[in-house]
Amino acid sequence: MSLDYSLSHTACITIILLLFNLLRLIMNLDKHSRTIALQCPTCGGGSFQSETVEDTEVKCVQCGRVIERDDLLRENSENIQENLEEMKSDVEKDIARQMRKALQDAFKGNKNIKIK
Ligand SMILES: [Zn+2]
Repeated sequence: MSLDYSLSHTACITIILLLFNLLRLIMNLDKHSRTIALQCPTCGGGSFQSETVEDTEVKCVQCGRVIERDDLLRENSENIQENLEEMKSDVEKDIARQMRKALQDAFKGNKNIKIK
């Protein structure tokens, strides 16, 4: 009876530790956010201005081309896609690495479970 108690107690702490580490991991994903620089399809300039925030058109500061925001995004979709793929792979690698570490930490000192 007392053995059962101590086993489940240990398992409980292990799981809490693991959950805590996973939570910390999820909160850390913010660091992967990045700003994707949009480029003017005409001159490749990266600065745009618009009259108002709600304005659907922006103007390239460099060449003066006026373009719809939607069009600008469409023209940059390849670039955006590339950035998203990179970000995804960064996050995946980071999660894999931190998951392993969280598991290692959680089961540290447990002779029956070894994580490599
Ligand atoms: Zn331009």
